[in-house]
Amino acid sequence: MRVHVVGSSGTFPAPGRPAAGYVIEQKGTRVWCDAGPGTFMSLPVDPGLIDAVVVSHQHPDHCSDLMAAYHAWTYHPTPREAVSLFAPQGVWDKLVAFIDKEPTCFAFHPVRTGDLVEIGDLTVEFVEMNHPVPTVGSRWTGDQRTLFYTADTGPEGDWRNLASGVDVMLSEASLQGPASEKDYPQHLTGGEAGEIARAVGARRLVLTHIPPYLDPSVSVAEAETGFDRPVMLAVPGSSFDV
Ligand SMILES: [Zn+2]
Ligand SMILES: [Zn+2]
Repeated sequence: MRVHVVGSSGTFPAPGRPAAGYVIEQKGTRVWCDAGPGTFMSLPVDPGLIDAVVVSHQHPDHCSDLMAAYHAWTYHPTPREAVSLFAPQGVWDKLVAFIDKEPTCFAFHPVRTGDLVEIGDLTVEFVEMNHPVPTVGSRWTGDQRTLFYTADTGPEGDWRNLASGVDVMLSEASLQGPASEKDYPQHLTGGEAGEIARAVGARRLVLTHIPPYLDPSVSVAEAETGFDRPVMLAVPGSSFDV
């Protein structure tokens, strides 16, 4: 399984750093996971080669480029039809409200805790995360390798079981400093990401969703304190194997 980091900026995009977005590839299957602003135009493959889309939640930094895809796939001389979109119901409701109709370029499948879907060569399981709106974390399995993507979350909730023993945990790290001083309890500090990755037995930890105004090397250092082994940064335009 290969993860192409399309965007990793937290909360809003910056030049050269789209917000949340990844292409997860296994054999001939390519899934666009999270459609944050700037990710559609930065996809590592022709958008026509995306087999399905997974969106974690309705916050614009994770879903606003569904509208870019809608325009591209609807008004292209060769339009796309019924590309599978897996997301919480709220994502679809917001998209339909914004464009004033149900876009036929997508075939929407609502997902929630406990759902498991097969997308080509990938299996994806979903779990509710600790965030102010319905948000799904996802465990990806391909050829016996496993990835857990936290999307946006705080440390609470029952989601850690689904992250258990994964080869790679791709974790948000929106905040820095002591967890007791967090302004937003439903996000993670770098230190919390490291502690959770260690607690669930993840083999590797990759940090993402770091806002442009924070120094990512500080987030990595905080995470390494908890994880006790090297931590990677998700860098747009790069990819890593799971
Ligand atoms: Zn976010
Ligand atoms: Zn969010």
